[in-house]
Amino acid sequence: MVNFCRQRDLGSLTELGLDDCIHHTRLMVREMQNALRLVYYTPAETRAAGFIEAEHFGVRFPQRLGHLELTGVSQRWLRELLWDYLADALRSPKRPRSKSPLDQVRRACLELSAFLEVDAPAGGHDPTLLREEHMRRFVADQQHRERHSLPALAVKRADGKPSAVTEVARRLLFNNTRRLLRWALESGEDQRLGLDRAFITAMPAAGIQRRARSPFSDQAARALADEANLRQLETYDPVDQGMRDIWETILLTGRRCGEVLKLRLGCLGRYGGLAMLWHDQTKVGNYDQAIRIPERLYERLVERQRKTVARFEARHGHSPATQERARMALFPSRMRNPNGEAAVSYAWFHRGFGQWIEQLDLPHVVPHQAGHTLATNLLRHGATLSHIHRYLGQVSDPMAEHYVHLSHSDLEDVLNHVWVAGPGAPNPGALLSGTTTSGAITPMTREQALALAVDLSRRSTPAEGGFCTFQPVVDGGACPWNLDCHNCDKFVLSGADLLYWRRKRDRRARPRRRHRRLPAPGLRAHRPRHRRP
Ligand code: SF4
Repeated sequence: MVNFCRQRDLGSLTELGLDDCIHHTRLMVREMQNALRLVYYTPAETRAAGFIEAEHFGVRFPQRLGHLELTGVSQRWLRELLWDYLADALRSPKRPRSKSPLDQVRRACLELSAFLEVDAPAGGHDPTLLREEHMRRFVADQQHRERHSLPALAVKRADGKPSAVTEVARRLLFNNTRRLLRWALESGEDQRLGLDRAFITAMPAAGIQRRARSPFSDQAARALADEANLRQLETYDPVDQGMRDIWETILLTGRRCGEVLKLRLGCLGRYGGLAMLWHDQTKVGNYDQAIRIPERLYERLVERQRKTVARFEARHGHSPATQERARMALFPSRMRNPNGEAAVSYAWFHRGFGQWIEQLDLPHVVPHQAGHTLATNLLRHGATLSHIHRYLGQVSDPMAEHYVHLSHSDLEDVLNHVWVAGPGAPNPGALLSGTTTSGAITPMTREQALALAVDLSRRSTPAEGGFCTFQPVVDGGACPWNLDCHNCDKFVLSGADLLYWRRKRDRRARPRRRHRRLPAPGLRAHRPRHRRP
């Protein structure tokens, strides 16, 4: 880098254009320029220079620089309005946890700026000339681009190509432009700038479209867990930083990708002989959670621990001390990370994973679907929603409903024909089999269940919430137990009834958020108690 600067006779690193440098020099120069900018510029000077530094506001984003370039917004009034909005967001107690919400507002402004430059009077540089019709035309232009899959006016992808206007991109753009302009309205900036109120209110809200991710299809699940394919995944990790281990952990435990990437070196342990994995569910605020993991995964992660420690020893010439171990990541990054404390980034994992999926010729899948697959499979095999909540951490109610829907859609056909013991039987809810040997209830095949359903429908009569199988009653006689069906072992439920009661039980067993708060003293006696159904 020094030779490079000397050859060009530069007086300062700030004179060096990053595009002229070779890769390694560029990395070094960028790092130094980022640090120097914080010292050379005051926040007020960054506003005039057309960029903002999150670190000037005491905010540091994990694994992202706090620098946001705003010079792409050509209208000075809009650029400064954007700067003020971002500064306000960074100062607020509810400041964003990541850089992306700020970047989305910047991208929205870039697009609005490019449109005003070609469509508005005086290129949109005079805010007092902007009227409602200009905003309406901008909205119509974006909708047209979305409909015909046209590229955006100014927003670019990471590889420098124009980004396509998709439905998601258009919604983000509308919502963020609206948020910025509404903020101007509330803070009185619109009056200072002489901005027409109709120009602001003409930007519609696009709403949020939440689509629940589906689990992996059987074909995708088989391909993603296939040994030969997993060996191919290793080829995308040439220095063995643990890409395969990360993926297998996600697949087998259903954890979020970020939770696995940030695992600590000492995350494993045996308790009562059972292999456990300790992790933080940072997204939902559950820290130091332990879950049981399969033995095969435990062995794999123990081997990863050994490799990580061996790398530390090779670099430092000694084993990590206890305190160093506590801070070390299980999957340490190789970038600016001599002590192994920073974990590999999501971008690194996603790059390799994406290329692997492309090569497997699978439809679009993302690692997060592993959690949904696990939840659906657990439900399908008899776990309740309380189990899912406990194992996966926080699961939103819409997501829980989605899991139930997916896991039971194929079960319902069968359950409609299967009969189970009623609440008064020795084993309530147990499948009733016609072929009991030595008194034990044996599992039924689908054919046996159907035969039993036909048989039972002949030998039963409807009772409240189920069916009576007591022959004298079925033949028209009086009930000797005064119709106390729910305590009678002759009473059976259909599978559909069982499903209904299970769902009701799950809903009651789920802790409700509003009950966690302590009620007002006068209402304490009326607090609903959590009862076992
Ligand atoms: S109490 Fe028992 S015998 Fe009487 S109707 Fe109900 S299920 Fe049939």
